[in-house]
Amino acid sequence: MSNEKSLPICIAGEWRLGGGDRYATLYPATGEPHAWLNAASLDDVEEAIQGAHKAFRESGWAQKKPHERAAVLYRVAQLIRERSEELAQMQRLDNGKPISETRGLVASAAGTFQFFAAACETLEETITPSRGDFVTMSVYEPMGVVAAITPWNSPIASEAQKMAPALAAGCAVVVKPAEITPLAALELAKICEAAGVPKGLISVLPGKGSVLGDAITKHPLVKRVSFTGGTTTGKHIAHIAADKMMPVSMELGGKSPTMVFADADLDHAVNGILYGIFSSSGESCIAGSRLFVDASIYDEVLERLAAGAARLRVGDPADEKTQMGPLITGKHRESIEQYVALGVSEGGQIRTGGERPSVAGHENGYFYRPTIIEGLNNQNRTCQEEIFGPVLVAMPFSNERDLIEQANDSVYALAAGIWTRDFKKAWKIGREVQAGTVWINTYKQFSISTPFGGWRDSGLGREKGRLGILQYMEQKAMYWGT
Ligand code: NAD
Repeated sequence: MSNEKSLPICIAGEWRLGGGDRYATLYPATGEPHAWLNAASLDDVEEAIQGAHKAFRESGWAQKKPHERAAVLYRVAQLIRERSEELAQMQRLDNGKPISETRGLVASAAGTFQFFAAACETLEETITPSRGDFVTMSVYEPMGVVAAITPWNSPIASEAQKMAPALAAGCAVVVKPAEITPLAALELAKICEAAGVPKGLISVLPGKGSVLGDAITKHPLVKRVSFTGGTTTGKHIAHIAADKMMPVSMELGGKSPTMVFADADLDHAVNGILYGIFSSSGESCIAGSRLFVDASIYDEVLERLAAGAARLRVGDPADEKTQMGPLITGKHRESIEQYVALGVSEGGQIRTGGERPSVAGHENGYFYRPTIIEGLNNQNRTCQEEIFGPVLVAMPFSNERDLIEQANDSVYALAAGIWTRDFKKAWKIGREVQAGTVWINTYKQFSISTPFGGWRDSGLGREKGRLGILQYMEQKAMYWGT
């Protein structure tokens, strides 16, 4: 799909070339351009937000009955499903995940639109118990123009998770996808228009976050930012939001602990741990990147994990059998290599991986082997900082108290995994570990109906879940005298 003509972007419903610099998005498996775009300019940002504001006020979308908006969103889900293979291949080219994974992301995007269509139908105004001679009601109003700022690691799913509830709520959405993975958001905008979302209600503005994302966040007409990305960027946006008294939701980084107890089903646990860290090349906020194993089974578990990691098929993302594709960019691979070198300099030993594989026919792709480092302690930087790649640090534990202290000793608190057959232990550890999501005898499973988010530096607020829609609405109390 090499295409040297720049693709149009969506500025308040107008599809045209962005006013900014022309750039290529690269296929991470080859390092070759696969699409060209002109980034949005600051003038495009202004036009998109003014257009969104106008469409919010004049298109009638916000005034539609919830079931009428729902009908359009059901159609979006259906159109995504009809184009699912094409979208999965496009997502593979944009961020290099194996096709088996990108199919899952597309299915998740369709499911998200379907879920928020259904959630929209349940929106209701409630009469609340009154304490006087009046009737009180709680109603919800859409906020207006909201911004969705997304990262490169699971674009179509992240964008659907913000666009679907915002549209369901009746808002207009300005999407700022990651500069290097803009295609999914552009396609979702086209699909939304084809399904009947009024023109102008959606804009998609690819380009540099520090320029465009900043301008969008600061704009007075933008009433909420839903952000997914790195913690440093999230804090920057939160500072701007504080000045505007603007609500934000933040889905940020992680360094999630996985804990394996001596009574665990080890076949199950080993597979789950490998999937938890190495799927998506470890480029996943919820990657189970810190492993704590009961000392009595540590050697056995590590042996199985090392053998399993070495067996994972790293290679061509287009191949149905590939389990791990390349990393997103050459620069990102270098940062992972620096972390592995740091781990060694901190006293760690590389148990497996720690190098670039050769992938026939893809010599310029950004591949890296699944890597396990041992011999570190939880205080080391390698165990504290988010590497965002296929690197697992493994440590033994010998008592539960220490385990919980170490698991919780992190600025991040996004997710955690527990492997045990003992229900009481799972319950106790599950309640004591600090994390937005705890997986017990499974890992990295998702349900759109279950709220998701992080504690501490991993985020603010929750996405997904039926109430995810209310993030994009203001609550209003009404008193009726009798
Ligand atoms: P990033 O913070 O660099 O970029 C995320 C988005 O923010 C991009 O669209 C970028 O262009 C934009 N941006 C950059 N600077 C900005 C600014 N000053 N103002 C406004 N927007 C700006 O993150 P990334 O490298 O794209 O993604 C990786 C990070 O995302 C990791 O830390 C990962 O853990 C996190 N992440 C979190 C979740 C979650 O749900 N918690 C999910 C996926 C990724």
